[in-house]
Amino acid sequence: MSEVFIPPADLPEREILTRLATIVASSLRIDPADVRADTSLDALGAESIDLVEITLDVEHAFTVLMPERTILDLASEVAGDGVFEHDGVLTDLGSALLRDRMPAVDSSLVGAGTPVARLPRVFLRVDVWVRVIAGLLAATPRACDRCGARLVQGPPTRVKCRACGLEFTLPTGDEIARTWVRDWLVAHGARKDGVVGGP
Ligand SMILES: [Zn+2]
Repeated sequence: MSEVFIPPADLPEREILTRLATIVASSLRIDPADVRADTSLDALGAESIDLVEITLDVEHAFTVLMPERTILDLASEVAGDGVFEHDGVLTDLGSALLRDRMPAVDSSLVGAGTPVARLPRVFLRVDVWVRVIAGLLAATPRACDRCGARLVQGPPTRVKCRACGLEFTLPTGDEIARTWVRDWLVAHGARKDGVVGGP
């Protein structure tokens, strides 16, 4: 069986975009040229079942596990309810978080007061996926803990050492996103345990 190498941690975003566009176009049977960075997958006609297929193809192509939940859900889990969204709209902090998470997205789309119900379409933008994939690639292990040799793609959700055969479970997209949120909270002066406010 041939070895499938893990893409480099610093794979350029334009290269990620090219590979993602090929996957999306193949799944939706459209022209890859129509899969532009600022397009939303739902605007290209992707339905839930297509998103499942695209996600699986992305995970295989890049040796990553995509997040299963949105960054807003994960952030609320880390910091508590009412911090990033309140009464169905983004708070100032929620807006700041999403602007940092998705710098390519026009900030007016994620401003404070934006209804949370409008966000799924933003989360489905191609450039948002590209950046998520880049973050996952940066967090993918590439060297064996036991012998230091190079890791290659293993069975689904795993990587394996090409020398000694030891397997490792890939970090999940949700874990990596939660870590990103905790780091973001620390950088923004929130408490180190990721809890905002408190007594
Ligand atoms: Zn090894």
